[in-house]
Amino acid sequence: MQNTEKKYLSKMMDFGEVLDRQHSVYGSEFVKKMIENGGRFVSDRTGITYRIPTHFGFCYGVEKSIDMAFETVKRFPDRRIFLTHDVIHNPKVNQDLKEKHVVVLNRSADNQLILDDLTKDDIVVIAAFGSKHRDVEQLKAKNVMVVDTTCGAIVLVWKRVEKYAQNQYTSIIHGIWDHEETQATASQATKFGWHFLIIRNHEEARDIERFVKKEISSEDFMKKYVKKASSGFNPELHLKRIGIASQTTMLKSETLEIQEFLKASYAAVFAGAKPDDHFMKYDTICSATQERQDALFQLLEEPLDLVLVIGGFNSSNTTHLSEIASLRFPTFHVRGPEDLTDSAMVQHLDPTSLQIRTSSDWLKRNIKTVGIGTGASTPDVLIEKVIARVEEYLTA
Ligand code: SF4
Repeated sequence: MQNTEKKYLSKMMDFGEVLDRQHSVYGSEFVKKMIENGGRFVSDRTGITYRIPTHFGFCYGVEKSIDMAFETVKRFPDRRIFLTHDVIHNPKVNQDLKEKHVVVLNRSADNQLILDDLTKDDIVVIAAFGSKHRDVEQLKAKNVMVVDTTCGAIVLVWKRVEKYAQNQYTSIIHGIWDHEETQATASQATKFGWHFLIIRNHEEARDIERFVKKEISSEDFMKKYVKKASSGFNPELHLKRIGIASQTTMLKSETLEIQEFLKASYAAVFAGAKPDDHFMKYDTICSATQERQDALFQLLEEPLDLVLVIGGFNSSNTTHLSEIASLRFPTFHVRGPEDLTDSAMVQHLDPTSLQIRTSSDWLKRNIKTVGIGTGASTPDVLIEKVIARVEEYLTA
């Protein structure tokens, strides 16, 4: 590979022949047996039934990202390897890469990659959720090898946002404004010199409606959205034609509801215009996110006493699974067994406030059925470890 070295790799096949897919090291024989047993494990020690949904854990995008990152480490043992961000939102996987001397690049106060120290022999891996267009251009200009593990489902959203921008539709992105994926998606609009606005929820979609119905002024609108809009954003000019996109891991029901709400608002305000003169939409929730949300809804039809949702606290799709489960049952979003501090204490992320909390009395002695959900970046092995920890506490 040294003589004809590629400088930009974006698929596993770009490495040539690959003998093993390394995400499998995060698998679990125990979980495979649970799947064979209809997604359940009944403990002989405690009598508790543990249930998992039909779809859970690593999605194809995360598998690709892990495979490409670890393959890079394996292929280039003598080269310095960096990351644009943590490769996925899972502390265990990121720690494993750190132990292999893969380092996350520093950024300046205005979020620019600091690349002064890089040479052409260095390698930079782009995380599963992508990186801003400007980051990628900077890396190419530096002539380093780029291993781009951005998930294909996210690239599809980018293509949609590019299309909106090329036709001068402002991308209204339903997402978390400072999430890396949303920032990268928004940058696809500005690369064509056009605009974006990031909204978090229905209430923020209502602000757009209030503005186009002239219920609030540009100044008042921008007071709230200056950080969430592209530079030079002028609502008078840039809310006349909008196209909807979303962070791929948002709650599907919420994204659809926002799309329909804004579609109706624009149809009312611009009555008489052709339907897509002012408004365009496209479903940009990825299939893996949908499958995990749908499977969890199905599991929640069962009588559960407790739900443990496992995944990184910065994992958007895991947080949404926790949000879904918490509407029906006592639910704790934990990163792994280490957050089950003891039988009386649990450290967890509250899905509404997004604050890390410590709660007591989480594990009742009389529980019979525990549901376990995992996000798209959560290794299966953590299910096994969390169950082992619950069993340990209940038999101590
Ligand atoms: S959750 Fe969807 S978009 Fe995100 S990495 Fe996985 S497959 Fe790709």
